[in-house]
Amino acid sequence: MSTHCVGCGREIAAERAELGYTYCTSPACQAEYRRGPTVTAVAVNKSGDAYRVADPDEIAARAAAGEFATKNTGLGTGHEAAPHETVPAPRRPRPARPVRQARPSWTPAQEKIVRLYAEMGLSPRQIAERARQNTPRLAVTEALAVRILSSPRR
Ligand SMILES: [Zn+2]
Repeated sequence: MSTHCVGCGREIAAERAELGYTYCTSPACQAEYRRGPTVTAVAVNKSGDAYRVADPDEIAARAAAGEFATKNTGLGTGHEAAPHETVPAPRRPRPARPVRQARPSWTPAQEKIVRLYAEMGLSPRQIAERARQNTPRLAVTEALAVRILSSPRR
């Protein structure tokens, strides 16, 4: 089968015609027909590179040439890369986990004094009062005492 370029009338290479091209590779015909109906139907944007990538004929040709086989079957068994298989969808990156504050937000010194007073039978309010008098630098509050006493001992 011989196909002739719809632009200049020159004969199109057999393998190119087989891929469905109706125009030749001359720059003039490329410029005129490359963005024809087939291509624009799948175009993702107006850049030349995007057209190149989006061109289904070209993708089919590259797949047939094995270009995708080595790159995209790394996840699989590696020997079932049929030329016309669809290219596997890219794996989605896992959403990043929110970082949890694992460590309590008080110091060992604060915890030590709170637990000490608690063992003496003081309530969180009394602990805060006692700590304010004896160890003001630790800045132990009633709320902090509650939090420390309601957390497991480290
Ligand atoms: Zn031509």
